[in-house]
Amino acid sequence: METAEIRRRWLAFFEKNGHTVVPSAPLIHDDPNLLFVNAGMVPFKPYFSGQETPPWERATSVQKCVRTGDIEEVGKTSRHGTFFQMNGNFSFGDYFKKDAIRFAWQLLTTSQEEGGYGLDPDRLWATVYEDDDEAERLWAEHTSIPLERIVRRGKLDNYWHMGVPGPGGPCSEIFYDRGEEYGTEGGPAVDEDRYMEIWNLVFMQEELSQVRAKDDFDIEAPLPAQNIDTGMGLERIASVLQGVDNLYEIDEVYPVLAKAAEMTGKSYGAHSGHSAEGSHPDDVRLRVVADHIRSSLMLIGDGVTPGNEGRGYVLRRMLRRAVRSMRLLGFEEPALPQLLPVSMERMKKSYPELETGFDRISKIAYAEEEAFRRTLASGTTILDTAVSRTKESGGTTLAGDQAFQLHDTYGFPIDLTLEMAEEQGLSVDREGFTRLMQEQRNRAKADAKAKKSGHANTEVWKELRSAGETDFRAWQELTSEATVVGLVIDGQRVEEIEPGQRGQVILDRTPFYAESGGQIADEGIITADGVHLKVMDVQRPVKGLIAHTVEVVHGPLRAGAPVLAEVDAEWRISACQAHSGTHVIHAALRQVLGPSALQSGSYNKPGYLRLDFAWGQALSPETRSEIEEVANLAVRKDLPVSAAWMPLAQAREAGALALFGETYGEDVRVVEIGGAWSRELCGGTHVGHSSQVGALTLTGESSIGSGVRRVEAFVGMDALRHLARERAIVAELTGIVGVQPGELTERIGAMLARLKDAERELERTRKQAVLAAAGSLSDHAKDVGGVRFVGHDAGGEAGADDVRAMVLDARQKLGDASPSVVAVTGGAKGRPVVVIATNQAARDRGIKAGELVRIAAQTLGGGGGGKDDIAQGGGQDLSKSGEAINAVEWRVGELVG
Ligand code: ATP
Ligand code: MG
Repeated sequence: METAEIRRRWLAFFEKNGHTVVPSAPLIHDDPNLLFVNAGMVPFKPYFSGQETPPWERATSVQKCVRTGDIEEVGKTSRHGTFFQMNGNFSFGDYFKKDAIRFAWQLLTTSQEEGGYGLDPDRLWATVYEDDDEAERLWAEHTSIPLERIVRRGKLDNYWHMGVPGPGGPCSEIFYDRGEEYGTEGGPAVDEDRYMEIWNLVFMQEELSQVRAKDDFDIEAPLPAQNIDTGMGLERIASVLQGVDNLYEIDEVYPVLAKAAEMTGKSYGAHSGHSAEGSHPDDVRLRVVADHIRSSLMLIGDGVTPGNEGRGYVLRRMLRRAVRSMRLLGFEEPALPQLLPVSMERMKKSYPELETGFDRISKIAYAEEEAFRRTLASGTTILDTAVSRTKESGGTTLAGDQAFQLHDTYGFPIDLTLEMAEEQGLSVDREGFTRLMQEQRNRAKADAKAKKSGHANTEVWKELRSAGETDFRAWQELTSEATVVGLVIDGQRVEEIEPGQRGQVILDRTPFYAESGGQIADEGIITADGVHLKVMDVQRPVKGLIAHTVEVVHGPLRAGAPVLAEVDAEWRISACQAHSGTHVIHAALRQVLGPSALQSGSYNKPGYLRLDFAWGQALSPETRSEIEEVANLAVRKDLPVSAAWMPLAQAREAGALALFGETYGEDVRVVEIGGAWSRELCGGTHVGHSSQVGALTLTGESSIGSGVRRVEAFVGMDALRHLARERAIVAELTGIVGVQPGELTERIGAMLARLKDAERELERTRKQAVLAAAGSLSDHAKDVGGVRFVGHDAGGEAGADDVRAMVLDARQKLGDASPSVVAVTGGAKGRPVVVIATNQAARDRGIKAGELVRIAAQTLGGGGGGKDDIAQGGGQDLSKSGEAINAVEWRVGELVG
């Protein structure tokens, strides 16, 4: 049964049983504690924890998940993917244990002809929490699993909570016995590869007051409303239903593995058995490739781009690990262009947006592979040198600072350093590395930290919010009458803030825009009788709460005081211009470059904006002008700008550009310029008509990472000022050069060409002078114990080639009749060089150029060598040239004396 069919049957089964089908949330979810959605219940958390009222009593979904913790398991076990899909059915205060068990049993064991999965009941096992008698009884009563296949397990395996105070409860897991080829008999406690966990049923029935560890928590009370949360691994059940050994061999994954095997000429599975344990390393690598390619595809599809921190780093690591596994399998060419399309073809059945977005997705992935290939080329040499030095000095551990330098200077990821060092039999001082990384991070964050809301512990903010969320009036008004709800200094609540102090003010309502969506915070003042505060920054430390960082000019300000909050109106006009300008530029970019030029980040403040977007190459000057033109035409058309709230689905349908993070169920704000001309989800403040943006002028365009470009622009008066500055520069230049502006380019071009010619001429004359001096070298030969010796310092103008030519010329002129030695030093670009030649008669007397050069080079502070007849060396200290030649002469005398 195809994976797509398993998924379809799942949703159909639960829909028929009264569940609302909820689409998968994006992998990136608005949860500060999670890098990625890692379970089906994540989007429903607010319902389970009681923060929000669920819109349904029963729901079902197939949720995209990424578990970064499972990355090391990939390919080594048969059942762990970094990306996988979790089928879930959820009850919010509706059905409980009995029905959850009955639903699961029915779907798993109903025959395939009748729409179920048709699993053999005799192969199924169930586990229950150690004291959950009720669950054990329900399994025995409502299924055909005999008591010996219902196993009790402890907190570590069978108690679920979120790691924080909140709901918790026992769980029951369903295991499938894959048979004796896969491992030892005895149930899930004995062998988790043979007995594979396919489905976990969580029975939320308690409220936890304290959670210290997975198996150490305090239960406060029973939950008033009991919930069900279940998760079944779609890939795991697919591996069972498709009769394959592991989840890398199912229909959604295997084609990539097969392609990789074909590219590398490996025959997959030739050296491994059914169980993943003890697999041949090549098989593990092929599985890693297949898994990581798919995960990367899904991550980029949901808006992640490769980077050095957080989510971006996870993606970078997976892409690079896939590329490196291909290399270890013997394939050194770019691999992603052959592999990624295969994965997309398989996944588009369930996620059609992967096909429509593939242009953007593949550009990002391929650019990352290119970047990695360059890194590998430079970093590998450096790593190899570090490794051999370590080994030479008898060490077994690569120093932390070397790993850090590789990371910091050459972009070599630490896990790559670990892997490559390990291949060469070395370990790496991870602690040292981590310490250096931490120090660097601390330095970088110190500034940012000082800025953001004084970094009060979130508990303080949550407590403040419990009194009510801030009424956010930035879209409606510039001045609000408000009451001070709370005051915070250095993360602590206080009763008052005095003149000269800095702290955060929480108001019941505010006209101030808090920094978000790329728009920076408003400036302005907060006043009251005898109180004057300057607003320095405005942030949203927790959802729903707005904190104003203020400096008290007159005061003190006391908690509970009535105040007037006023945004600086001039400032706000410019801020609106900049934010609307950002949308205009974004729309213009997509109009000129095509829809794949999607924004990945932005920043705007009065007078200035910048926008990062997915694009693989630099924009030509013509393209930049065209974008500017499209943008300014839209400004001139005076298009109306409007904002409206609507459900996400409706916004998507209208083609609004959603940049991720939004979930179903929420209403979203859509900002339009000229109707469909520009339509984006946005919480920012905007002008009323596009003409109010004023002028827009692009000032720069650059690359800020693989597949991501950045444009910068000035807006409104600042655009005019920028153009005025450029005009002034042109005026100044015409004055200096003495031509009309239109002739500047040509004239300066001609001047530069003449300058180049003159430099070339100078170089030619210089060479001539050097060689002329060389012509007479042989005339100045000295007699050293019967050897004719020429020693000459050609000076700092002579390069290595010049010196060599002089030496050969002089030796030839001296002839073969009697022994002769020529030694010349030079030093173009400050790098000393020495070349020495001998003739046959000299060599017959035991004089060797190679030996002499070593003596000279040593004096110059370097090294060198060569053959008996001619040799070359270098050094560092140009001023020692004369000394070096003397040393050579002295040695010749010694040899013949
Ligand atoms: P395991 O112990 O096998 O790692 P788990 O206890 O971490 O599993 P849960 O957190 O209970 O799994 O997740 C619910 C279901 O999701 C599991 O029963 C399994 O079918 C599936 N699942 C979990 N992790 C993965 C993964 N890395 N790849 C594929 N499926 C997974
Ligand atoms: Mg797990």
